[in-house]
Amino acid sequence: MKNSTVTFFVLVLAGIASPFPAQAKIKVITSITPLRSLVESVGGDLVTVRSIGRGSEDPHFVEVRPSFIMAITDAQLYVEVGMSLDIWARPLIENARNDKIVIVDASKGIHILGVPTQRVSPLMGDVHPQGNPHYWMDPDNVPPMVRNILSGLVKIDPAHEATYKKNAEQFLSQLKAKTQEWTDELKPFKGTKILTYHESWEYFADRFGFDIEGEEEPKPGIPPSGSHTQDLIQMMKQNNVHVIFQENYYSTSTSDMIASKTGAKVLILPELCDGEPGTSSYIDLVNYDVQKIVAALKR
Ligand SMILES: [Zn+2]
Repeated sequence: MKNSTVTFFVLVLAGIASPFPAQAKIKVITSITPLRSLVESVGGDLVTVRSIGRGSEDPHFVEVRPSFIMAITDAQLYVEVGMSLDIWARPLIENARNDKIVIVDASKGIHILGVPTQRVSPLMGDVHPQGNPHYWMDPDNVPPMVRNILSGLVKIDPAHEATYKKNAEQFLSQLKAKTQEWTDELKPFKGTKILTYHESWEYFADRFGFDIEGEEEPKPGIPPSGSHTQDLIQMMKQNNVHVIFQENYYSTSTSDMIASKTGAKVLILPELCDGEPGTSSYIDLVNYDVQKIVAALKR
């Protein structure tokens, strides 16, 4: 027997002898980083997840890097926020020549806030035409999001349904305990009046009891204007508003100017995982914001 033949048989036998051939991981793409974290919580070791948007980028307008075109062609699952937030990704997904990709809209079944009472058009610059899409900032909206992700993964990989379900249950029970802690920590500040830059904080404020008195943007997606800012400064003085919640991906110049006229504190709070160091998971993200708010507001 020649050496090459022996090598061939050894390789064949080694292949047969292995009871657990390495299984390829499910490739998942998400539009923004909080979804990346939630898919990792449900998928565990069975998935690899990449987010198109970074934690430092405005989630309404993400510039898609070329490396994602190949990744999307290769992906089995795409998870989006929906409600028009990440419409910038849809043409990429639909033109990726990937018929097999399963698309999950994470917003199915969530509690929606900020549905416009009059007709709004994206042409008017309003980036929230279907209601406020920043729903992940209410931890009580996470269970339906996780269920949507779970059903997407099970559709692609039914053999591991039990593992995905177990992961989802473990994560949700951990989140429930943390949400109770956050509620207790923020309780002393219930009713605190705040100004925000964008409408990112409506769900968070609703859950934890902050009163949003106004936004620096005249409309979601429309940059602050001089007259609107002057009106806000008057309003803040009259209504005793001393705190500004500002997203990390917008310029702070208007917030800083308002703070200089009113004495308000400006808190830079991420709403995206990786928006600040130490916020790579969803729980770490919300925890970061809660701790920063507590530290700033306690006397
Ligand atoms: Zn928005």
